[in-house]
Amino acid sequence: MKKSGLFLLLCSLLLGCYKGYAHYTNDTIRSAGKFSFTVKFDLENARSTIALLGSKHVSEKQLDGWLASAGTRALISKLKSTPAIARSAMIKAIENKKADAEESKYQYAHIRQQLDSMRLFLDRLAMAADSITQAICEELRPFRSSGNDTVVLYGLMGGYSAGFAFTNNKSAFYMGLHFYKGDITGVAVSAKHELFHTIQSAEYQFEPVMENLRQTDSAWEAPYYLLRHIFLEGSAEFVADNEPYLKTSPYLRHEHEHSVVNAYRHEAVFYLIEHLLLDAFHQPSLMDFGQLYSILFDWNWNNPAYYAGKHMMAELVKEYGAGYLQKSLGRDALYFIRDYIQLSGSGRVKEAYSFSAEFTQLVETMLQQVETYQRTAGTVTR
Ligand SMILES: [Zn+2]
Repeated sequence: MKKSGLFLLLCSLLLGCYKGYAHYTNDTIRSAGKFSFTVKFDLENARSTIALLGSKHVSEKQLDGWLASAGTRALISKLKSTPAIARSAMIKAIENKKADAEESKYQYAHIRQQLDSMRLFLDRLAMAADSITQAICEELRPFRSSGNDTVVLYGLMGGYSAGFAFTNNKSAFYMGLHFYKGDITGVAVSAKHELFHTIQSAEYQFEPVMENLRQTDSAWEAPYYLLRHIFLEGSAEFVADNEPYLKTSPYLRHEHEHSVVNAYRHEAVFYLIEHLLLDAFHQPSLMDFGQLYSILFDWNWNNPAYYAGKHMMAELVKEYGAGYLQKSLGRDALYFIRDYIQLSGSGRVKEAYSFSAEFTQLVETMLQQVETYQRTAGTVTR
């Protein structure tokens, strides 16, 4: 197996042979002719939350400063909470008082029980952050065709999400570091997955295409959105593959063990996807999109669409070479779906799934409309 730069870096961090410099924030700037890729690791929320939770008394000024930081504001927004609730959650945790349901969302009492290990983890992460972002940038740079990207990766302490982003801001994403339990490899590989999403968003604008499909036939909207996300998540899983790290990263091993059940029910995963999408297409008025999305993409359902998308990309890259992934980034996701349906029908793919003629036709019809739209809009499909 070819060892990537990130893999070698993470091995050296694990063996303790990496020497770095402590920074609370680190910038990586890489320029390669047509575009630059800048990643900033911002640990301010994580740092200040740990400092406050470790204090016996905090001033209003300290709390105001903490509440004003970008990371804290994002966490409040993610939790659909308010600065007043965040403030009272923090004060109750410091004073060892019981939080109410809204305050408990911040999980400060839980984090406060592990302050020493969290502090140590943040120190190690701060020392390694610049090298990690550099290695990720090196590996992802070939996937970006042009542009100037600046992405801020916020390390947070609090909340119930290990990683999230807001749809209206593609240049920032957030990681709940308390979920990683000191596992720097887990943070690095998850960050690579999230950073790959920012490249995907920049390389192909799917929203106007989806809007055109919705206006042409509103029953297409949900199947198209879900197929696009199978591509997005599957290829991000393929690029930020967790399998090389299963022995060294408890976080990634836990993720892998949770979703590996999909491999045992491989055919059923594809059957589920195909039939849920056909059902959404045939009966859009009866569809509950939230339920549908969670069955395919949620941890509680073992993320079957992530598994399917990764498998599809792996087989397509095996068939057409590494350039396939690059090519797929600038095209509509429906080409990826159609390519896999064709490959699966060719008999050359491992564990082929036999897609129904109806599903194949749905994909084909939507793709024809995408091509019509792009010709009219003058969009070039690579
Ligand atoms: Zn993702």
